[in-house]
Amino acid sequence: MDREGREAVMPNSARAEPEPIGLIAAMHWQHWLILAGALAATFLAWRFSAQQEEEKARVRFERRTGDIIHLVRERMRRYEDALQAGAAFIDTMGGQVDLPTWRRYATSIGIIRKYPGINGLGVIHFVPADSLESYLGEQRVFRPDFDIHPTRKADAYWPISYIVPVAGNREAVGLDIAHERNRLEAAQRARDTGTAQSTGPIVLAQDKQGAPGFLFFFPFYDPQREPQTVDERRAALRGLIYAPFAVRKLMEGALARERRLVSFSIRDGDELIYDENLEEARDYDANPLFVTREPLEFYGRQWHFEFRASQSFRRESVSLQPKIILIGGIVIDALLFALLAQVSRSSRRASRQAARLQRAQADLSRANDELSQFNYRTSHDLIAPLKTIRGFADLALRDLARGGAASTADLLRRIDQQAARLDQIVRDLLNLCQVDHLQEAAEPVDLDALLRGVDESLRDLKQERGAAFRWSVTLRQPLFAQTARVRQILENLVSNGLKYADDAKPERWVEVRAIEGARGGARIEVEDNGIGIPEDARGRIFDMFFRVGNSPQFGSGLGTYLVKKHVDAMGGSIDYVSTPRGTVFFVDLPRQTKARSAS
Ligand code: ADP
Repeated sequence: MDREGREAVMPNSARAEPEPIGLIAAMHWQHWLILAGALAATFLAWRFSAQQEEEKARVRFERRTGDIIHLVRERMRRYEDALQAGAAFIDTMGGQVDLPTWRRYATSIGIIRKYPGINGLGVIHFVPADSLESYLGEQRVFRPDFDIHPTRKADAYWPISYIVPVAGNREAVGLDIAHERNRLEAAQRARDTGTAQSTGPIVLAQDKQGAPGFLFFFPFYDPQREPQTVDERRAALRGLIYAPFAVRKLMEGALARERRLVSFSIRDGDELIYDENLEEARDYDANPLFVTREPLEFYGRQWHFEFRASQSFRRESVSLQPKIILIGGIVIDALLFALLAQVSRSSRRASRQAARLQRAQADLSRANDELSQFNYRTSHDLIAPLKTIRGFADLALRDLARGGAASTADLLRRIDQQAARLDQIVRDLLNLCQVDHLQEAAEPVDLDALLRGVDESLRDLKQERGAAFRWSVTLRQPLFAQTARVRQILENLVSNGLKYADDAKPERWVEVRAIEGARGGARIEVEDNGIGIPEDARGRIFDMFFRVGNSPQFGSGLGTYLVKKHVDAMGGSIDYVSTPRGTVFFVDLPRQTKARSAS
């Protein structure tokens, strides 16, 4: 019993298969917090890196657009220098140059070679109407067929007198730029300010393709005067140095497009004068990383640049760093998740195991307590009747020696009584030992036959207690259970009903009713009209060796304990109701399909 008792406790708790623990279910909220933090950190690192990359690209883009504007300005400043040098040359020549001198001058400064983008360097004379004849006379010295065109009557004329090289500019020679407002306005602005000025976009007389171009003017005055005011300048004006240039050529000369990574267009007012932002262009990006607009003060005109980043720019700007950070971060977070989940699962398992071990330990120590109590009680209960028997036997022997027959018979009866008690205790102990080891299969139990057997076995007790025993079985189908267990349950409960019958009542009886229980099971009610169980015994009545204090009848205190063990072994339940009028025990047994193991 001792060894087996321990085994019955230990295996259930410690050897039980661990329940599977879901990875996610195992995690604590702190773990989720750590994971959320790690994910947030990954996201922030990715955002930060992406922003840094974008910022770097923006700076690069701005540097590139700045470079372009700077190059265009530089180029124009060089043109301006060329014009200013021309004006200074005329000044040093005393305000007059003839065609050959100008040609020598312009050729000597290498106009086409050194200033790519401009089509030539020329001189426009300011000719009031009354000086027209003498002007034409001077010009016709070298060019007899020189004339001003278009022909018109005006107060003053602004004819293009010279242009070098003449090739490609021939149509410009003799052109009176005052015939058209755009040219005249720029010329007048140059005159009035004494600075280089540009016309708005025009179709150059030299340009057959009609691409937008400009005339760039710089004034020269009477070398005898130093005009300071607008009026003085107007009075002193002799003419303008001018250079025609095509915007396309200016840009081509100024900027190598392949290396720029940025394309742009230019507007003068509403007019588009230059456009690289063409969808059909090789490097065109329909959805550019950056687009900016920049105004540029351009010699009296307002130019607007629109810059677009190209596909090459996008390729150069795309960095893998943010993606690597993001993917790397997510991978690390996933590993962290796996680690935390694993750790949590292990720790949950460990704590479950610890709880199980604790329960097992508690079970074990309870079993130990029960065992010592059991040892003590059994030794005591077995020894007590034995002592009494020996005492009575001694007395009987002495009685016999004295020849007293009547008292000897009484002593022998008492010895028999004690032996019967001993027999009862040993039987109960035997039953107790068996209770955990009954492996008998469930079967249809013939309750009626069983109760008849119980009635038979308790005949003496019935007689002794003067109590009747009756029963009724009203089950639709036979109880399906382990017969030996059902028999011990009935024997114990019925014998208790008989034992604790109330002597004060004229009729004493015990009744067993087997009726339909829940879910195909059976309910067995064992009722008596005996002395009843005091209320303060509730909760202990099924404990091992429990007996009500002044129980009038002999007993081991194992009966109800045994009953409970059998009921539990069959998966049933037991309860009772008791008053001084009597007691009813209710045993509910489920319908069994197979033998239950000991525990
Ligand atoms: P015992 O061997 O003393 O009968 P049991 O375990 O069978 O031990 O019962 C425990 C105690 O419960 C008994 O001592 C008795 O006082 C009380 N008891 C059990 N059944 C009845 C009953 N039908 N009527 C009154 N008292 C009962």
